[in-house]
Amino acid sequence: MKEKTKSSKVQRAKSSTLIFVVQKHAATHLHYDFRLEVNGVLVSWAIPKGPSMNPADKRLAMKVEDHPYDWRDFEGTIPEGSYGAGTVMVWDSGDYYPVDEHGRRGDEYTMEEGLQQGKISFVLEGKKLSGLFAMVKLKHGAKGNEWLLIKGNDAAASTTDILKDDLSVLTHRSMKQIAKNGVE
Ligand code: MN
Repeated sequence: MKEKTKSSKVQRAKSSTLIFVVQKHAATHLHYDFRLEVNGVLVSWAIPKGPSMNPADKRLAMKVEDHPYDWRDFEGTIPEGSYGAGTVMVWDSGDYYPVDEHGRRGDEYTMEEGLQQGKISFVLEGKKLSGLFAMVKLKHGAKGNEWLLIKGNDAAASTTDILKDDLSVLTHRSMKQIAKNGVE
């Protein structure tokens, strides 16, 4: 297994494409870690109910610390006693691009600005999640790190429960199989 530490500040070199990843994480409380590459790191939120393709759903997303870029393909079990102990699946991944307030394709600067202002929009090109999404920071959240993830109204929007599509996009394994087999 390649050693991966959350504390490392390894950054990805500047690139024209940006990636996102959603890691299903069976920690103390099951959640989905939603991560967007910005300036070489993975800006991250923990989503207890997971993402939805239905624009009527507003999914609570707790902003957590940035993760290093190389965390994007971690799949396996974080051992007991370590931070985030539990099984991790790469539930979805792909490219994404930021969208500015005029609906135009943006860049990492668009994301930086949006993160500061508490509102970002982006288009995901994943294997499960696709199309326009927005994330909005709650102004009066109890903890100050509460955002909402909301699917945009577009051709990709759907009321089908995307979370039922429940195998790893990396290894096609279930959570049970990952827990049993460990890191690949
Ligand atoms: Mn997590």
